Amino acid sequence: MYIERERDRRERDREPDRRIREREREEEAKAKEKARVEKLVEREREKELDAIKEQYLGGKKPKKRVIRPSEKFRFSFDWENTEDTSRDMNALYQNPHEAQLLFGRGFRAGMDRREQKKQAAKHERETRDEIRRKDGVVERPEEAAAQKVREEAADAYDSFDMRVDRHWSDKRLEEMSERDWRIFREDFNISYKGSRIPRPMRSWGESKLSSELLKAVERAGYKKPSPIQMAAIPLGLQQRDVIGIAETGSGKTAAFVLPMLAYISRLPPMSEENETEGPYAVVMAPTRELAQQIEEETVKFAHYLGFRVTSIVGGQSIEEQGLKITQGCEIVIATPGRLIDCLERRYAVLNQCNYVVLDEADRMIDMGFEPQVAGVLDAMPSSNLKPENEEEELDEKKIYRTTYMFSATMPPGVERLARKYLRNPVVVTIGTAGKTTDLISQHVIMMKESEKFFRLQKLLDELDDKTAIVFVNTKKNCDSIAKNLDKAGYRVTTLHGGKSQEQREISLEGFRAKRYNVLVATDVVGRGIDIPDVAHVINYDMPKHIEMYTHRIGRTGRAGKSGVATSFLTLHDTDVFYDLKQMLVQSNSAVPPELARHEASRFKPGTVPDRPPRHSDTVYIN
Ligand code: ADP
Ligand code: MG
Repeated sequence: MYIERERDRRERDREPDRRIREREREEEAKAKEKARVEKLVEREREKELDAIKEQYLGGKKPKKRVIRPSEKFRFSFDWENTEDTSRDMNALYQNPHEAQLLFGRGFRAGMDRREQKKQAAKHERETRDEIRRKDGVVERPEEAAAQKVREEAADAYDSFDMRVDRHWSDKRLEEMSERDWRIFREDFNISYKGSRIPRPMRSWGESKLSSELLKAVERAGYKKPSPIQMAAIPLGLQQRDVIGIAETGSGKTAAFVLPMLAYISRLPPMSEENETEGPYAVVMAPTRELAQQIEEETVKFAHYLGFRVTSIVGGQSIEEQGLKITQGCEIVIATPGRLIDCLERRYAVLNQCNYVVLDEADRMIDMGFEPQVAGVLDAMPSSNLKPENEEEELDEKKIYRTTYMFSATMPPGVERLARKYLRNPVVVTIGTAGKTTDLISQHVIMMKESEKFFRLQKLLDELDDKTAIVFVNTKKNCDSIAKNLDKAGYRVTTLHGGKSQEQREISLEGFRAKRYNVLVATDVVGRGIDIPDVAHVINYDMPKHIEMYTHRIGRTGRAGKSGVATSFLTLHDTDVFYDLKQMLVQSNSAVPPELARHEASRFKPGTVPDRPPRHSDTVYIN
């Protein structure tokens, strides 16, 4: 019984063991199942991911590469070293022999000459050494010295080359070559016509002016000579006849005044003995204002030398003027009309006058002064005229008449006068004849007559404290515009031929002193008058001739300063359309479309029929 019980008990005791084992087994199975399911899920997910990848990124399988025909023939640059043919590997060609052009004295173009020369020298030395070594001789000292001299000479040649390239301004006068002078003339736009022309002067220091005159120039503040002065002063000092053509405001006055003063200094001083014979030099100018301005410029230099200057112009007492001349005066500045009056009425004589200047010669001809100018020239001693024959030698000791003509333009009338009174003249042109200076910017505005005053006011309002000259064609217009401007509150003055001399002087002085900043004037002011700092020239009326246009706008842009010129153009001005268009084109200024398009601007007036050509004009020749 006990045994049974014992067995049962044991059985019971074992019972939990079995259960545990069973449970364990169950759990194991469960875990296995779970892992299997997880694996499955994992695999499923991977599959899904692959599917997504495949959808978006394309399949993993590499595609078979298709080689396009163009790729088949593409050159491969992966060269082997041995494939380099740029150098010949053959040792024979390692040290090629450089060709010795002209036995080492020649050069290859486009390569550094110095380097080539060094190579040549080295080569020569090596060759000589080689020869000596072969022959077993030692270099003798004199040979070595000779070689050294040769090498130095080669070097000197090089530096000589460099010296040629130096600019003329870095050279002394003696060093100037023909080529330098040519460049110099080009730099200043100087051209000459004539024979036996002396060199221009590069600076005041190099001119042959006396030290007194140079001091006067320095005091005037002229640091450098202007191109016309560079060219014309040496000519004047040689008593050559000169026709000078240069832009307005380029210093022509000093160009004739300085040689004139140099000439007078060589003459015996004026004394009671000879003062009744008249002045030593005469300058003629077309207008009173210009004559007075030349007088000022002359006095600026002349008073250092003690020379007296008188102006003989209309509007002053002729008796007084006559008296001044006969009481000893070296230089007379005159308008031709009044001077011939003086001469004819015997107030003055020109018995010892051998230096004549015609300033603004073309203007004097234009104004109809040709007979008066010729009359004055005929009143001078003709015995001192230079020989007609250009080849004939001049007598160094004799005094000849020297005639200077100056202008900015050169019409035929002046040439006529020049042929008669000038002997073997040198024509000096600075820039192009009749050209306006580049310093002036030119504007042309097309408008109706009725718009002019309003446009003028607009321009004047922009002036601030600067000055302007308004040019009109008639005295009447001059007065009425000035009156209207005055009413509108502008500081305005006028200048025209209808005013008394005194009034004219007051106007000009007031404008120069800037008491007035607007000067309304006719062509009396158009020529030669130098008023510094005129900022704006306005052609309220367009002049009838293009030469006058050049002179008028030349009142601004003087002595290196820039200026503006504005011209009002109407359909009444067709006579100048052609020339004006040419002028604007030449100076690179804008041509207003109305002018560019206009029939009158296409042909020079008088060169085409007034009506456009018709078909019936065609002439058929059978
Ligand atoms: P142009 O007669 O050629 O129209 P001007 O002789 O009236 O010109 O000279 C214009 C201005 O230039 C004057 O005010 C004059 O004093 C000035 N001028 C002339 N020569 C020189 C110079 N070498 N250096 C500086 N200013 C000069
Ligand atoms: Mg002048």
